Amino acid sequence: MTRCKSVWVVPRETFLLVDSQTLPYIRLTVPPPIAAFIVARIIAIANQKGGVGKTTTAVNLAASLAAAERRTLLVDGDPQGNATSGIGVPRDTIGETVYDVLLNPDRIKDVIIKSVQFRHLDVLPATPDLAGAEIELVDQDERELAMRRALDHVRDEYDYILIDCPPSLGLITVNMLAAADALLIPLQCEYYALEGLSQLLNTVHLVQQGVNPSLGIDGVLLTMYDARLNLSRQVAADAREYFGAKVFQSVVPRNIRLAEAPSFGKPIILYDVASVGAQAYMGVARELLDRK
Ligand code: ATP
Ligand code: MG
Repeated sequence: MTRCKSVWVVPRETFLLVDSQTLPYIRLTVPPPIAAFIVARIIAIANQKGGVGKTTTAVNLAASLAAAERRTLLVDGDPQGNATSGIGVPRDTIGETVYDVLLNPDRIKDVIIKSVQFRHLDVLPATPDLAGAEIELVDQDERELAMRRALDHVRDEYDYILIDCPPSLGLITVNMLAAADALLIPLQCEYYALEGLSQLLNTVHLVQQGVNPSLGIDGVLLTMYDARLNLSRQVAADAREYFGAKVFQSVVPRNIRLAEAPSFGKPIILYDVASVGAQAYMGVARELLDRK
């Protein structure tokens, strides 16, 4: 393992499951603790385009924030359940899920799984039954507000709540956007990356006009960036021209270690903290902390 360039320092007790080999490589500078009365910033990670790095971003940003001792809740809003397994929650240990929470928002505290791999990281898990919620919610009053009602019960217990959204703009995504303070958009550095965004921004606009006028955009994150490709550089330049300072300075490179980590149920900082992927997501976390 090569020595990691990062200069952050993390207290030992932050980690519940970490081997002594990995720990010396994690160097996080923890900015001053946030006062306990501040409520969580709720960030929905969304892009209706599939496979752009939403779940990878949700899992690894959540882990990096928890490593920096920010009380973090990762909400898996996708019936694929990839964030749940990627953060290390085995399928056979899951009882109730975000599906139950959408139908009974008052039950959220019973459904959250506490302390997953990090002392400061909790998870609201999902399984494929979440797909049914799209249909079952249709008949409910204020059906797009179920997630917001649920998170209202817990938002004073966290500094950050990150929501992994599914690759669609259906009722589940609308629920997540209605519950969020802001949106984080992963943008894959590929052809048509920006074209697809107009649909997402239209949905954001509708949610702003309807149920959540203060919904903002916390950032656009360039993912799967390959500095050798003109295309990657062009997409990055276009995104910076269109979104300006909202684009994170940190760029997530294409990195095989990021693709391998989920099959071990580990975020990248526990799987290979010295990898460029781990460094990138710690950089994104730091930018997010600096922006708050
Ligand atoms: P979906 O729309 O299906 O929910 P998604 O937007 O959540 O997909 P991910 O699941 O995060 O996307 O990523 C898609 C695939 O690309 C996964 O196999 C993931 O491991 C891989 N991947 C994500 N980011 C990177 C990266 N920076 N480098 C290499 N592989 C990556
Ligand atoms: Mg996903």
